[in-house]
Amino acid sequence: MKSFIYFQPTEIRFGCGRLEEAGEVCTRFGKRCLIVSTPVDVVVGPMIDRLKHSLSKAGVEYAHFDGVVPNPTTDCVSAGAQLARTFKANVVLGIGGGSSMDTAKAIAVEATHPGTAWDYLFFKTPPTEKTLPIIAVTTTSGTGSQVTQVAVMTETKTKTKSAIYNSIIYPKVAIVDPDLMETLPPHITASTGFDAFTHAFESYIHPAASAYTDRMALEAIGLVAKYLPRVVTNLKYKEGREALAWADTLAGLCIANAGVTLPHGIGMTISGHCPQIMHGESLAVTYPEFTRFTYPYAIGRFATVGRIFDPTLQNVPDEQAAAKTCEILDIFLQKVGMWLSLNGLGASMEDVCAIADNSRLLPDYKNNPRIASRDEIYTMLVKSYDRK
Ligand code: NAD
Repeated sequence: MKSFIYFQPTEIRFGCGRLEEAGEVCTRFGKRCLIVSTPVDVVVGPMIDRLKHSLSKAGVEYAHFDGVVPNPTTDCVSAGAQLARTFKANVVLGIGGGSSMDTAKAIAVEATHPGTAWDYLFFKTPPTEKTLPIIAVTTTSGTGSQVTQVAVMTETKTKTKSAIYNSIIYPKVAIVDPDLMETLPPHITASTGFDAFTHAFESYIHPAASAYTDRMALEAIGLVAKYLPRVVTNLKYKEGREALAWADTLAGLCIANAGVTLPHGIGMTISGHCPQIMHGESLAVTYPEFTRFTYPYAIGRFATVGRIFDPTLQNVPDEQAAAKTCEILDIFLQKVGMWLSLNGLGASMEDVCAIADNSRLLPDYKNNPRIASRDEIYTMLVKSYDRK
């Protein structure tokens, strides 16, 4: 059996109603909490009120940075870090989707280190023990950020999307309260749900996949396959929301211990250049070409995933089942409203060139079963441009 290490320091508190535990949880790390979220609106507002009530009840003082933007920028991180310093925060709590949780992680680094969070990217100086403790409360079922050592951000001036990747930014505690996800509209539910699928799928075909991550990845894939189409058409379907929140968490545990591959290299570059494109959209638009490019190099694994979606493929040889998996995933994308084109998402052909030029800056493409050249990525992007 392949040897492996599995590491996960985050305490996971999973279940409906757990947001109310945030205050007590916080007291374990500090009494001055910086809350990090997107701007307060009718959706986020009631969650933030509940959170603040819980913090006050536990005797925790707070300041609120509500300047997170989707696909967060270094400017946004710096504004939050400034507030963390002036408030003298000793714990940072991110509440929201991946953008809010990642901004909280990056703030925890920037507020305690010289320079900016961008100086602590995965290939630069590692952040130290001075990093503030992080609590992550997820309100989407997609990024798994609540259980990962990753904080993704985009450098404002160069539009480069990259990440801090270090064990020090694993959240101390993740609160996964599926009730918080009921307000997600259909498209964000689908986009984030597909993101969770990609984490499980890419971990499963990753060279660092292990017996441990494989079990979790296949479970997550099964849950997304079964529940995402149902939840997209029935947003208050409680069992479905719970299943997706669990799938998201499992898939996050997978990427923290195996990793992602080519679609994330391309997808991160897409959202860096075109910040209006959600992370999940950037992956969905990439998948139809990625699966066809990759499946001949991972026949057994593609076949196994296809058989989760369509058990009748049990009786079909692996080669055939793997090829069929590409079609199955296309149909799945169509079913959940994620059959997208780059043109439709507002990218220009100039963006396509820039994305192809930069998609191999992150190392993820090297972990794909088939390694793509710049020109092969360009061809995939062109085919994804006017997809009907
Ligand atoms: P997001 O955090 O950008 O949120 C998308 C939108 O959904 C926002 O407008 C937000 O306000 C809204 N929203 C969030 N929760 C809601 C709710 N319960 N009801 C209604 N609206 C809600 O989206 P995301 O996909 O969760 O995060 C994307 C970011 O996470 C990207 O920057 C991506 O690169 C990053 N990411 C990080 C990791 C990691 O391990 N750290 C992994 C994957 C992706």
